Amino acid sequence: MTQHGAPAETIRHIVIVGGGTAGWMSAAFLTNFFKPHQMKITLIESPEIGTVGVGEATIPPISFFNQAVGINEAEFMSATQASFKLGIEFCGWRHDGHSYMHPFGTYGSPINGVSFHAYWLRARALGYKPDLSEFSMSNVAATKNRFDRAAPNSRDPRAAMAHAYHFDASLYARYLRTLAEGRGIRRIAGTITSVGQNPHDGTIEYVSLSDGQRVEGDYFIDCSGFRGLLIEQTLKAGYEDWSDMLPANRAVAVPSARFEAPVPYTRATALKAGWQWRIPLQHRTGNGYVYVSDYISDDEAAQTLLANLGSEHPHNKALAEPRFLRFTTGRRKVSRMKNVVAIGLSSGFLEPLESTSIHLIQHGLIKFAATFPMSKNDEVSARLYNRIMAEELEQIRDFLILHYHANAREGEPLWDYLRHMPIPDSLREKLSLFETRGLAIFPNQTIFQEPNWLAVLMGQGPQPKGYDPLADSIPERDLIAALERVRTLCAQTTDRMPAHDEVLKRYCAAP
Ligand code: FAD
Repeated sequence: MTQHGAPAETIRHIVIVGGGTAGWMSAAFLTNFFKPHQMKITLIESPEIGTVGVGEATIPPISFFNQAVGINEAEFMSATQASFKLGIEFCGWRHDGHSYMHPFGTYGSPINGVSFHAYWLRARALGYKPDLSEFSMSNVAATKNRFDRAAPNSRDPRAAMAHAYHFDASLYARYLRTLAEGRGIRRIAGTITSVGQNPHDGTIEYVSLSDGQRVEGDYFIDCSGFRGLLIEQTLKAGYEDWSDMLPANRAVAVPSARFEAPVPYTRATALKAGWQWRIPLQHRTGNGYVYVSDYISDDEAAQTLLANLGSEHPHNKALAEPRFLRFTTGRRKVSRMKNVVAIGLSSGFLEPLESTSIHLIQHGLIKFAATFPMSKNDEVSARLYNRIMAEELEQIRDFLILHYHANAREGEPLWDYLRHMPIPDSLREKLSLFETRGLAIFPNQTIFQEPNWLAVLMGQGPQPKGYDPLADSIPERDLIAALERVRTLCAQTTDRMPAHDEVLKRYCAAP
């Protein structure tokens, strides 16, 4: 220890390996905590190895991340051709022709401390007809193609909404790069060809580039994408493969022209061998087919995607050649070890069904800051970090499996497999709680909470047989009146909201 009580081996130089979304989010985030004289931060990105660059849909915590790094929302949305996102519409996931929305925000608000949906379930058992979705402000606004929000900390009913963004991922990385470089981050364009480790404890000491440069560092953030240059290729962390429960292993992506005003939600449409995304931006639409290679060839997947563009609008066409991506769903057994933390695709991948990858980058960074290493090889902090991240990933995994497992697409080989495959006990327990008493509360701090699970559980089909008995606490006549007040409020408030497209034009039109 030094005379001031600080650990002798403090971290003075952080090296970020990779300049995709994860690398630049890491760089921007770290500038929050460290001024250039306190910490040297270097980001290395290869001009030869491209980025994945298809992460275009996000979930609400991204706005906290952006605020935390001091990003002006209107400026960022304009720079990244962004639109607002109030949820995800799932088409055909129960069966063809059926759709539901997973909206952000809440359904009503608790009454006497009991979840709103418990009262709705009780009313439904009494013959009340309106759907739960009519009590979600975000859902009602999204289906009317409107957008608005409450003033911060107000008692405005629009506070029941939450929003995220659709944006152009490469423009987001570029925007963060400008911000981070402006705050003193050093960027090196070069390809790492070898890694130097300490012969005694295996910590990383330096990386060498193809031009002969050697970059030494105290701590390394591995943002090198699927390859996991440090965490896997060097430290051999190992990979936990979840593809038996989440078998999608490929995607083909293509941008298309925009023919109508961007809607404030992502669309995910179930197809024979997976599902198709549609992400509306200001300047174009992002499209992709996530599929299981055992059930469709690459050619057929690309043809299906291109044909579906045409069925949305007769003049719709691809703006670029289809791009193919391969992945294995799962996670690194540990994403932090020795003096390396893996952030982004290097730490694992859950397919983009609920737009969680960018959230996991942000979550990883926040938890890394909360458990910032006291020394190069701080094993205690690393263990804590790994536990926190494992739990978050497993909760998201269960949530994704639910979409696939609870399907009624009978007679389609992939979907039949998904309906009958073994599922984790943790998910089985949640399904059982929901089916017996409509309970969707889970005692943890993870990203998807009761309203999220509720949306997907109700949307996919499992219906509860009972409801929380505490919802019997109010008389039947008051029950229906209370529900109708919320439903009317949702309808009337959203009727007064401006069109989403108008908001974009007024607030953050791209130049
Ligand atoms: P990459 O983008 O792969 O970047 C890796 C970086 O490492 C590059 O800069 C590369 O040059 C550098 N690098 C690699 N090797 C070396 C080397 N030897 N030397 C120097 N530099 C090196 N996420 C969402 O949140 N929402 C979505 O809608 C979404 N959709 C997706 C759809 C698909 C099909 C896929 C595959 C992913 C999707 N994601 C989505 C995930 C999202 O794209 C990624 O999480 C995000 O782009 C972060 O990627 P990354 O920065 O970890 O890796």
